[in-house]
Amino acid sequence: MTRTANLGYPRLGAKRELKWALESYWAKKTSAADLLKTAKNLRLAHWKEQQEAGVDFIPSNDFSLYDHVLDATRMVGATPARYAALDDLDELDLYFAMARGTQRGEQTFAAMEMTKWFDSNYHYIVPEIEPNQNYRLTSLKVVDEFLEAKQAGIHTRPVLLGPVSYLLLSKSTAAEGVPLKTLPNLLPVYGEALQRLAEAGADWVQIDEPYLAMDLDESARTAYEEAYAYLGRVADIRLMIAAYFGGLEDNLALAAGLPVHGLHVDLVRAPQQLEKILQQLPTEKTLSLGVIDGRNVWRVDLDAALKTVQQAVGALGAERIQIAPSCSLMFTPHDLNLEIELDHELKSWLAFARQKLDELALLKKAVSGAAEATAESFAVSREALAHRRASTRTHNPQVRERIAAIDESMLRRAHDYRTRKVAQARKLALPLLPTTTIGSFPQTAEVRAQRSANKKGALSQAAYDEFLKTEIKRTIKKQEEIGLDVLVHGEFERSDMVEYFGERMTGVAFTQNGWVQSYGSRAVRPPIIFGDVARPAAMTVVWSAYAQSLTDKPVKGMLTGPVTILEWSFVRDDQARDETCRQLALAIRDEVLDLERAGIHIIQIDEPAFREGLPLRRADQNYYLAWAIECFRLASSGAQDETQIHTHMCYAEFDNIMEAIGHMDADVISIEASRSKMELLDAFKQYQYPGDIGPGIYDIHSPNIPAQDAMEALLESAAKVVPLDQLWVNPDCGLKTRRWEEVVPALTNMVHAAQAVRQQLKV
Ligand code: GLN
Ligand code: ZN
Repeated sequence: MTRTANLGYPRLGAKRELKWALESYWAKKTSAADLLKTAKNLRLAHWKEQQEAGVDFIPSNDFSLYDHVLDATRMVGATPARYAALDDLDELDLYFAMARGTQRGEQTFAAMEMTKWFDSNYHYIVPEIEPNQNYRLTSLKVVDEFLEAKQAGIHTRPVLLGPVSYLLLSKSTAAEGVPLKTLPNLLPVYGEALQRLAEAGADWVQIDEPYLAMDLDESARTAYEEAYAYLGRVADIRLMIAAYFGGLEDNLALAAGLPVHGLHVDLVRAPQQLEKILQQLPTEKTLSLGVIDGRNVWRVDLDAALKTVQQAVGALGAERIQIAPSCSLMFTPHDLNLEIELDHELKSWLAFARQKLDELALLKKAVSGAAEATAESFAVSREALAHRRASTRTHNPQVRERIAAIDESMLRRAHDYRTRKVAQARKLALPLLPTTTIGSFPQTAEVRAQRSANKKGALSQAAYDEFLKTEIKRTIKKQEEIGLDVLVHGEFERSDMVEYFGERMTGVAFTQNGWVQSYGSRAVRPPIIFGDVARPAAMTVVWSAYAQSLTDKPVKGMLTGPVTILEWSFVRDDQARDETCRQLALAIRDEVLDLERAGIHIIQIDEPAFREGLPLRRADQNYYLAWAIECFRLASSGAQDETQIHTHMCYAEFDNIMEAIGHMDADVISIEASRSKMELLDAFKQYQYPGDIGPGIYDIHSPNIPAQDAMEALLESAAKVVPLDQLWVNPDCGLKTRRWEEVVPALTNMVHAAQAVRQQLKV
């Protein structure tokens, strides 16, 4: 019989129980025993949920107290040498020291680096691998959690991050390619873990190898062959190799040929690969079909998924097929039933992790011939889908007309950067090396308290607006005192740069409990873009116009760009992403024009997530860049020549897409640089960026107040590669997480640094 499998489940708990337990443990308010108890209860509850939903292969060790990659690092004993001095700590505290850093007397133990998990918004802890790294089986978490479930009467399929992906996710301070060379040392440790699992009674293990769905070089391919030639035989246990976040494509022969018992593939991102897989999979192997979207929140099209499953069953036989989500469900919120404020219609279009389990069960029933028993559920699903397709909420004729009417001229400013620069210089009369900030000023406890009081109805709209005005007034005055050239209003009215805009657009919904883990105890609640996006009214104009009314200096209007809104949301799956992005771009375009009419001459359109959208496979990247650039241009190009368009980017390295960023044709880009010690500037040595650039010289991620001479030095190094009349002076990012006590002296030093360099260079 065909069986169902789950690859992973949300870890934090439907009400983020793990978050609260972790944070209270870190604050020393509760004990380790309390934390471990909460964690255990969550695991048990989640296994039970899956059991009750009828999942045949339930994962264990998908749970983590912080991050599954860090768990793997502990398992194989690849703890970086700098933590050796902490070896008197117990497992739990050493683990958190690696994740978050710690202080002991005078000594600071920095946290390990964190970075994005493929193209998701989850962040993992990057393993640090030495040349000739020694490995040793250090943590038996994977075995312990298997036994824990077993004791509760649940037979699980443990999950391990595969050794090749583990090493490809690692970094080395020594040289590139070092981690993969340590594979021979690593394999025996994985072998031992598999043997222990077999002894404990596990019959299958899920081994995650997402890199099988990425571009691989020759050394990685060889590593795969070597790893599984060994692991496939080392223990009396079956391995299900899971490849997700893309298609196998050129790695199909490699993946299908590995000497293991099963292969899981992502048929949501890459449905077209099924045919070939069915042809090429060796006859002894089980195929796991990832037909339920683990990365998004939409109800599956049961008929279409069933057809896929039936096709596979027809080709390989029911026994060899498993039905699964495309990847772990940890990228979806936990339970739709907790959403009591979402309207019924919208809810009928959605499925969160818990609901996706039911979809698996339904597919299994249906493919096993129980058509009658599933008829009603299929009918409900079909109807929901039909409604979604026909709804005016998903198809707004006005939006469609506007999209159809987009032409070349809307993607181009009236004149090129050089011409605009002259017009803007006349209008704005800024000094050489103009100083500015990225937009937000400190979101103090008071700002947050007033916002939440207003949300709860305890503070009237009028009183809240008055409060915001006072904050803006204070912030304008402070910036004038500091001597900044281009001012901002401070963004006090915004809880979040995407949420603020999403709440003011139609076609976008928000959840109460739709949390998704971002890293450790942190979770985000992405907006759900379910329908055609439109902007019924101006979104930011009052605040920017008010700020401008208080000063003679130019105030920069502040918008979130279409690509970033898209990237940080759950996006509708019934049309191409670029189509949705264009709708967002039109809404932002309208806002640009309204700001301009209200007398705002500088407008910044933030695109911090621009790089994040870059597809994982090189072959897909140019297409993405083309439409993402087009959307930015659609949003910004309505502006007059005299209006200066800024953009801002951070959270990534941009060196390799700098040229594409140039095509966005912003007049000014401010970009994170100080944290990486201005490495970004190397990109400008080869490539003459066509606009003004403000490489950040104040690292706002640290509470440190940078000294004037340190910032002067950074500015001077920037002046060596960026023409002086194109260079801006600004921090790395917004200041909302900082305190006023840090921000005022830091910005004062920054302004002084600019003045000093102006003096020096003008001669
Ligand atoms: N304007 C936003 C701010 O200053 C930009 C935030 C970001 O880049 N993430 O907060
Ligand atoms: Zn930023």
